[in-house]
Amino acid sequence: MELSDDIIRLRQEIEDLARDRLAESGVDRDRDGAFWSHGWAACAEGGVLRLPVPEEDGGRGVGLLATIVAMESLGRMVDDLGLLFSINAHLWAGVIPIVRFGTEDQKHRWLPGLLDGSVIAGHGATESEAGSDVFAMRTTARRDGEDWILEGSKSFVANGPVADLLVVYATTDPDLGELGITGFLVPRDTPGLQCSEPLDKMGLRTSQTGAIVLEDCRVPGDAILGRPGGGAACFNCSMEWERGAILAMHVGRMERQLDEAVRFVKERRQFGRPIGSYQSVANRIVDMKMRIETARPLVRRIGMLKDDGRQAMLEAAIAKLHVSEAAVQSSLDAVQVMGSRGYLREGIVERDLRDALGARIYSGTNEMQRVMIARLLGLPSSLPERRPDGSA
Ligand SMILES: Cc1cc2nc3c(=O)[nH]c(=O)nc-3n(C[C@H](O)[C@H](O)[C@H](O)COP(=O)(O)OP(=O)(O)OC[C@H]3O[C@@H](n4cnc5c(N)ncnc54)[C@H](O)[C@@H]3O)c2cc1C
Repeated sequence: MELSDDIIRLRQEIEDLARDRLAESGVDRDRDGAFWSHGWAACAEGGVLRLPVPEEDGGRGVGLLATIVAMESLGRMVDDLGLLFSINAHLWAGVIPIVRFGTEDQKHRWLPGLLDGSVIAGHGATESEAGSDVFAMRTTARRDGEDWILEGSKSFVANGPVADLLVVYATTDPDLGELGITGFLVPRDTPGLQCSEPLDKMGLRTSQTGAIVLEDCRVPGDAILGRPGGGAACFNCSMEWERGAILAMHVGRMERQLDEAVRFVKERRQFGRPIGSYQSVANRIVDMKMRIETARPLVRRIGMLKDDGRQAMLEAAIAKLHVSEAAVQSSLDAVQVMGSRGYLREGIVERDLRDALGARIYSGTNEMQRVMIARLLGLPSSLPERRPDGSA
């Protein structure tokens, strides 16, 4: 795929940023589960948070394909994938929904801070009893005069412990099922909103994730994102963009793993020869290369479709499924060809494996991507019919 000169220049700019300001190792932060606030600030100052946002909204307006190419570069060059995950969560679950569904007042209030990095966003959809079946959520929004009262809890909110703004999905009318889901913009300091300490995750540990509880949490009428009952469209829009772009960092990471693995198998000698001369080692390297070459066009295609104003639900589900599986398998191959060195925490591939496993789960599990692809191909749905109240 030919990239435009503008995109090639942007990629160079992002690589300079990564080399100059984001070169620090993430090993200690991964161990401690610590958010890299300096890295966040460097990305914000380097304009990363403004990339996909239209110029009229204060962004750089480079489009999704260019943003994806930039994310590939960051994934290749920045050690701390958790930071990149946090940036993606902020962009696709916070910024883009406001750009697409926000009122002019909401944009004026929130976008400047979201784009200069002083405001961090996260979104709460998943609940303890509503994971894959997310629209079975039980968090409610009740009218009280001009205001809304939010009640419920969200179990897994990326950026939750560090977020200043949460996009909270709740149902305004459980009888309406999916049509009752509504998004709300809830500032962190809203009385009745509590965020937990960071959860102790297996991977992406520097991206802090927490639960939130909403108890008698009053927000004004103008906190609604979109229209009452428009939350499912807003959430699905988030997911469509996220599934493409968030995987781009893993494509970059697979490229880095391949470079490191090739270097390693050429240098490491056993039985008097470089281990790369042994077919079973070389085959893993070949498979790693093939995965990169099949994964990259899938994520870039989503960028092209969205930049053309077209739907990409099917393509996003295919990319999510393929790239996340490729990222896990490539991490396994990288660990294996490096032997005991690949198994150590001081290296990067051990962490890559833990980070990549999250990609099979977030933005909808891979099993649910298969369900979605089958449905979009016209196969009969395996999911139970919903009653009007949303229950199965
Ligand atoms: C790193 C990370 C970050 C996340 N960030 C956020 C966030 O910012 N905001 C947010 O709201 N959520 C977030 N999540 C939560 C994520 O969206 C959910 O974990 C995911 O939707 C799955 O829900 P669950 O964990 O409850 O699993 P469940 O839905 O309980 O699924 C358990 C298993 O059953 C399978 N399964 C369930 N139903 C079906 C079916 N019909 N057919 C086939 N298989 C099925 C699943 O695929 C899975 O393997 C994040 C998760 C991770 C790992």
